[in-house]
Parts: sequence; structure tokens; C-alpha cells
Amino acid sequence: MKISEYFRTSLFRKVFSVSSIISIALIYFLGSNLYNRISDGIIEEKISAAISEGEAAIQYADYRFLIGSLNNNTNYKTIVDEIVKSTNVSAKASGREIALLSTSGKRVAGIPSRSTSNFLEPSSIPRELRKLVIGDDEIHWQRTNLQYFNGESVAGVAVGHRIDIKPVGRYEMYVLFDFASQQQTIDLIGRSMWGTGLLLMALIMVIASVVLRQVIKPVRYAAEVAEQLSSGDLLKRMQVKGSDEVARLGTAFNNMADTLAKQITRLENLSRLQQRFVSDVSHELRTPLTTIRMASDLIYAAREGFDPTIARSAELLLSQIDRFEELLTDLLEVGRFDAQVATLSLSRIDITKLVNRCVEDLAMDAKQRDVKIRIDAPQEVLLIDGDSRRIERIMRNLLGNAIDHAEGNPVDLTIKDSQSAVSIAVRDYGVGIATHHLERVFDRFWRADPSRSRIRGGTGLGLSIAREDANLHGGEIQLWSELGAGSQFVLTLPLTQDQPIIEVPIGELPTY
Ligand code: ADP
Repeated sequence: MKISEYFRTSLFRKVFSVSSIISIALIYFLGSNLYNRISDGIIEEKISAAISEGEAAIQYADYRFLIGSLNNNTNYKTIVDEIVKSTNVSAKASGREIALLSTSGKRVAGIPSRSTSNFLEPSSIPRELRKLVIGDDEIHWQRTNLQYFNGESVAGVAVGHRIDIKPVGRYEMYVLFDFASQQQTIDLIGRSMWGTGLLLMALIMVIASVVLRQVIKPVRYAAEVAEQLSSGDLLKRMQVKGSDEVARLGTAFNNMADTLAKQITRLENLSRLQQRFVSDVSHELRTPLTTIRMASDLIYAAREGFDPTIARSAELLLSQIDRFEELLTDLLEVGRFDAQVATLSLSRIDITKLVNRCVEDLAMDAKQRDVKIRIDAPQEVLLIDGDSRRIERIMRNLLGNAIDHAEGNPVDLTIKDSQSAVSIAVRDYGVGIATHHLERVFDRFWRADPSRSRIRGGTGLGLSIAREDANLHGGEIQLWSELGAGSQFVLTLPLTQDQPIIEVPIGELPTY
């Protein structure tokens, strides 16, 4: 099953996956937003503490150098060591480092040009910060990475100010703070947020699935009942409990089913009545028609002695009686199909022989219309189990129609068999049938052009009876037609009545 189909075929899967995706996105968005705000707040807090702490440390150092400058024998190296290195022991623990850099970059009065605590790389102080610090007498700060000689690096902030050591020169002092402990707190918050987010997700999914099941259950039930109803169980109804929307759906559904069942029963009764009526009338008409036929036969036989107009009327009368009888026979046959009493009278049939017989029967019609019938049949004898009267009727109808509509072009008859079936294709190259008419061709009394001049006066029931006859055999009639290009009707019948058709020997599309 394709993925799209997997979701399309189930309301539960569709709604569940959409709501899960939306809640995952929402939780992720809200969580990461909250996480960013919290971590920014923690870092900002640390920076403002670092600025004031750094400022105090710088002021203290400034003061120490000032005191030192009052004494001529001052050892500035000691003061520098005191300020920078004295913090060594606890510097890492307190997360604070100190750097004293000479602005001129020279070693003066024993003070190294660059002194840092705990092997901090002087490059930890950004160039831009140094420029700012050298530029004025203000405290400046900037976020940076604290880098050590051993390659360690940790995010933090550097706070700096310039320091003038009167007889020695200008220096910059930086106090650097790492965010290690803040980062630990932020990581902890991050982990707990992930945990909470996942838990929340699982909870939302469980709730969504429970609620969805609750909502979808009645919908599924309604679909099941509707399916049973549409498959013919007209008495099937939904059970209605309570008075919520689902109950309203159930009541409305049941009302609809009641109305439908009533209508169907009414129409069935009406149709049965109509079928009975047609069948009764056809039966009733048979006896008077036989009498009329006998009388008209007599009149027809004596027509030589009549006035020419009366003689012509006698001929017309007989031909119309023929048509009337044909119609009555067809109507009685249709009545038998409707009453489902039509049965097969089976025998072994040589299908090629049967087809040839039909061709011979219609040879006169074909000649009159100047239509050549070409037969392509296998050499060997093709025997099938079938009702020869019905199969002959089908073939006569298909062949008669083809001759009628061939417009003088030849008609091709092809017989082919497979392991399970035999197909007889009747192909003409005449008028053809418009695409929008194709599905009406097998309807009772339907004709594309009733006024069309025809040799055989068809009843309009021929193809509908042919299809019923084919179906009765477990076979089918396929149709292909194109206006102006002709038509192809393919009758396919099973070889035996206990085996279904597995492979159709001739498809509905013509090969040429
Ligand atoms: P009938 O032949 O008595 O009119 P059918 O049921 O046999 O009734 O055919 C119904 C209609 O289908 C015909 O009136 C005709 O319009 C159309 N039809 C049948 N066969 C062909 C064909 N071979 N070519 C064109 N039209 C056809």
C-alpha cells in the first residue's frame, strides 16, 4: 500500500498523524523559544554580575598601582603578580581570569608585556574590545571564548578597562569570566525540557488517540451500516443512543433508510406490475393475432383477384402482421427474463457451423444491401455447451445490425477460442455509433435513428435480449464503435457451463 493511500483510507490515521505533527511542531517551537529565553536570561544575568565584579577588580588593581607609584622603590612585578597570579589557586573554581596587557606591547620595569592567570591565552581578548578599551576611559565588555595554552576553550565574557601606571606606562586590564556553571544550568534545563516535551507529546498522542477513537467509532459504525444497506439489506438500521450529534446522525440516517426502502419497494411493485402488464397483454394478444394472421393469409393468397390497391394493402397487412408477431415474441422473451424464468436448453454446439448457418439465413438481406460477409474461423471444430436457439438469436441480431448499418461495406466475422472461452467478433465499417450513445445501445427500445430505412424491421429489443441471452450463458457482449468508422460487437461465451471465462479470446477493440 502506498503511503498516501495508507493515510487516505483511514480517518483515524489522517487526523491522528496531522494532530501529532502539529503538536510536535508546536511543542518544539514553544520549547525552543522558552529555552532560548531562559538561557539568554541566565547569560545576561551572569554578564551584568561580571561587569560589576570586573569593575571592582579593576578599581582595586588601579588603587594598588596608585599606592605603589607613591613609593620610589616599588617592585611593580610583585604587584602585577599579586593581582594576576594571586587568583591562580581559586581562579578556575571561581570561573574568573585576569589579564594585564601592555598597550605599547613592551616589557617595562620588570613587568611582562602580557600577564595572564592560569595559562590563559592573551588572544582570548578580542581585538575590537582592546580597541574600545584603549580608546577611552570607560569600562567595556564583550562575549568571547576563554582559551588556554592546553587547547581548552570555554565560552565567557571579558570586561576591560585601561590602567595608567604612572612612571611605567599604559596597560589594559581584563577580567574574564567563563559561563561554565551557567552552561551546566542551561544544559540541565534543556534536558528537562526535552524530557517534559517528550512526555507531553506521548500524553497528547494518547489523549488524541482515545478521543479520536471515541469520535470515529460511531462514524465507522455508520459507514458499516450504510455499506450493508447499499449491498441490499434494506432492513438494516443504526442503533440510536442518547441525543448528541451522533444520535442525530443515526436518526437522520434511519429516516433516510426508511424513505429509501419505501421508495424502492414502491418502485419494485410498480415495475413488477408493469412487467406483469406487458407480459399479460402480450399473451392476450397472441390468440387474436393468430386469427388475424390466418385471415390475412387467406386474403393475401387471394390477392390476385383484388383490385391492385387492395392487393397492395393485403401485402402490407401481412408484412405488418409479421412485425407485430416478432414484437410479441420479443416482448414475451423480455417478460421471461424479467420474471427470471428464462432457462438454458443446453446441447453441444459446433459454433462455426452455427455462425455459418446464420450467415446463410441473412445472405438475402446482405445481398440486397450489397454487403459482403467475410468469415475468419479456425479450421478445427469448435464445440461449446450452449443453447443453440439463443446463440443463433444473438448472432442473427448482431449480424443483421451489422448488415443494416454497414453502408455497403463488408462485414467481418472472426471466431477465436481460448482455453476457457470462444469469441465471435462482428465488425462492420459503416455508420458507427456516437460515443455518448454507446451506453444506451443495449437499452430496450432504444435506437440511434428510428427513422433510418431498414430492410429488417427491428423491434429495438434485439440487443437487450442478446445481452440477456449472453449473460444467461455466463458470457458477455463487448462493444466498440466510432461514428463513421463502424462498430465491433464481440460475443464471448464459456466453452462449458461449469467453467467460468478466464481468458477472453477477442478483446473489445478491433485489430484494424
Ligand atoms: P433494432 O436493431 O431492432 O433497432 P437493436 O437493439 O438490435 O434494435 O439495436 C439498437 C440500436 O443500436 C439500433 O437501432 C442502432 O441504432 C444501434 N446499432 C446496433 N448495431 C449497430 C451497428 N452495427 N452499427 C450502428 N448502430 C448499431
